[in-house]
Amino acid sequence: MHKTLIVTNDFPPRPGGIQAFLHNMALRLDPDRVVVYASTWKRGAEGAAATAAFDAAQPFPVVRDGATMLLPTPRVTRRATALLREHGCESVWFGAAAPLGLMGPALRRAGARRVVATTHGHEAGWAQLPGARGLLHRIGEGTDTVTYLGEYTRSRIAGALSAAAAARMVRLPPGVDEKTFHPGSGGDLIRARLGLTDRPVVVCVSRLVPRKGQDTLIRALPLILAEVPGTVLLIVGGGPYEGALRALAASSGVTDAVRFTGALPWGELPAHFGAGDVFAMPCRTRRGGLDVEGLGIVYLEASATGLPVVAGDSGGAPDAVLDGETGWVVRGGSATDAAERIVTLLRDPALARAMGERGRAWVEERWRWDLLADRLRGLL
Ligand code: GDP
Repeated sequence: MHKTLIVTNDFPPRPGGIQAFLHNMALRLDPDRVVVYASTWKRGAEGAAATAAFDAAQPFPVVRDGATMLLPTPRVTRRATALLREHGCESVWFGAAAPLGLMGPALRRAGARRVVATTHGHEAGWAQLPGARGLLHRIGEGTDTVTYLGEYTRSRIAGALSAAAAARMVRLPPGVDEKTFHPGSGGDLIRARLGLTDRPVVVCVSRLVPRKGQDTLIRALPLILAEVPGTVLLIVGGGPYEGALRALAASSGVTDAVRFTGALPWGELPAHFGAGDVFAMPCRTRRGGLDVEGLGIVYLEASATGLPVVAGDSGGAPDAVLDGETGWVVRGGSATDAAERIVTLLRDPALARAMGERGRAWVEERWRWDLLADRLRGLL
């Protein structure tokens, strides 16, 4: 039986987007054909207990290394090749290409017939740094396929690979759970709870960091309120930028029109998307391109919920929007651009609904986990 060894530092219970991506994919492969080799999440009894409980609940074996970070050292390479042989694996999936993908040639010599290395948002940043570029090049040479999230990350990463490796790249983005995120996900209850039942709501769901553009939305609010009085900006998520955002709301005179929920448990997210009339996150690129959006999965979660989206033009965010169909891409950082599009959508519920429906259909057609897992299975 053809089995796959997944080698990764990014596996739950460690939280995060890449971790959720790998886990969702792994769950959709045949559990009898998957073995995961992962780093230890956290040292100490609590981390060990959480990890053991998580691992025991998986339908496939998870082998933990004692290290909290796997690096392509001789020791880790020996362990990976031993696991490959012990479980009779014929293919290898590196959950993040760099740096573990450097073990590709060794695993091939040990019997792997297919080696796939997946890239995420940050490799696009690394592709600009000379040392990391060289590593990506070697990883491209030692694997069969390097996957990418979308056109933005592909164009960056391909530049670091040989022409042959670049030509072998395949798109493999994370999917969206269309059964979790759907129209009618309980937004009315959230609105009632927050006292927003009859008010226009612009919702933004994301970590609170400058790149995401919650500050741009706050700066856009006076313009929006002048056109659509009573509008509320619902900011969902937690993060280090919260204090600055609250101060900006106060100095902009819009404190009453902004609600912060803080970070929420996963189960509360769909209803909070559903509480919005419009989803907006005008993200922007910072630090000369190193702080950039990889894909912007939240736009797809909003589309799945049936909301029109207003996205920023940072990195791969536009890959998650059909501009003019599921919403609009605006210049990140421009409060006037964001306000103009948001006002148009709040004033025209028929247009908002049509864009939301197109978004929902697009997610069902193109972004379902099952479809993307089929693609991975094909590569492996
Ligand atoms: P990234 O954080 O820059 O990787 O942004 P992404 O848009 O790629 O991923 C963010 C993910 O985290 C999306 O699935 C969001 O729905 C989710 N997310 C954002 N804020 C929260 C929150 O407060 N709670 C939970 N549970 N998830 C959140």
